[in-house]
Amino acid sequence: AAFSIPDLYNGIVQRDRSSLARAITLIESNAEQHFSLAQELLQKVLPKSGKSLRIGITGVPGAGKSTFIEAFGMHLCNLGFRVAVLAVDPSSSISGGSILGDKTRMEQLSRHPNAFIRPSPSEGKLGGVHRKTRETMLLCEASGFDVILVETVGVGQSEAIIRDMVDFFLLLVLTGAGDELQGMKKGIMELVDAIVVNKADGDNKPLALKTKKEYNQILHFLHPATSGWRTKAYTCSSLYLEGISEIWNVILEFEKNTKASRMFNERRKIQNKKWLYSMISDQLHYRFFQQSEVKSVLPRLERAVMDGEKSVSAAVFELFNES
Ligand code: GDP
Repeated sequence: AAFSIPDLYNGIVQRDRSSLARAITLIESNAEQHFSLAQELLQKVLPKSGKSLRIGITGVPGAGKSTFIEAFGMHLCNLGFRVAVLAVDPSSSISGGSILGDKTRMEQLSRHPNAFIRPSPSEGKLGGVHRKTRETMLLCEASGFDVILVETVGVGQSEAIIRDMVDFFLLLVLTGAGDELQGMKKGIMELVDAIVVNKADGDNKPLALKTKKEYNQILHFLHPATSGWRTKAYTCSSLYLEGISEIWNVILEFEKNTKASRMFNERRKIQNKKWLYSMISDQLHYRFFQQSEVKSVLPRLERAVMDGEKSVSAAVFELFNES
């Protein structure tokens, strides 16, 4: 496809969805010749970006993320906000299909004129999925979306990376987590600004309230993710639309507080700085392994290390001295 940057830019700022979709395709392309075009476009939209509220949502599969986002997103759309939903699924390149990407999800929201839903990009070089999501977020902002929801499966590494691209981070959990609660990594609880016990409905409601209390007791002893903000637990039912507007109010309160204390902008600055250094690392890594000297020497060194003939340190030292 041919991409005209001025046309794409005009389409984006005029809130034309197909221009936005095509621009995201350009950002997501792994083709070498698209990279500089994409960066030219990003440079143009940059002054128009940054005005949205960026909200990350994580939780194990089955916690109810897509049901929650459907309910929460519809609530915001009905309030008149424009909402973009971006998925981050770093496993998509491995499984071949995305855990997050199937089409039956968020049926109502996907049809709402105020909503824009984009499945996870596939992996690629140079920062891969996370770079693409960050850059897509900027395009959505330039296209006038007020709220960006970034959804990710809570399995390990990805949470810390999502934390570094959003303003507010929300962890969706289930009840009956008594044991799980004990074993739950403090790590994730110290990354989030709210813990929401989902499925607080029917017979499950008393247990949900008990679970909320237990989380609050633990949170009391942990470091908050955002200084000046107390991370607390809440309950909701995404299926029966209970507690959804309360969660939005919590987020608005968070926005008000952190903007007043300047934490909000400070965090975004630090996020940009971290992003810079992480892309430098990616580039160094990529360029290093692209070198023909490295490519020719590495197989021999790898074999020597595997066979125990050379120490890892010696192999690395040799590699850097020969290339
Ligand atoms: P995800 O894997 O985290 O995206 O979870 P889903 O949104 O697909 O939800 C998993 C299952 O839980 C589905 O069968 C949903 O219908 C159900 N579910 C989600 N939210 C609620 C809720 O608030 N109450 C009840 N009872 N079921 C829910």
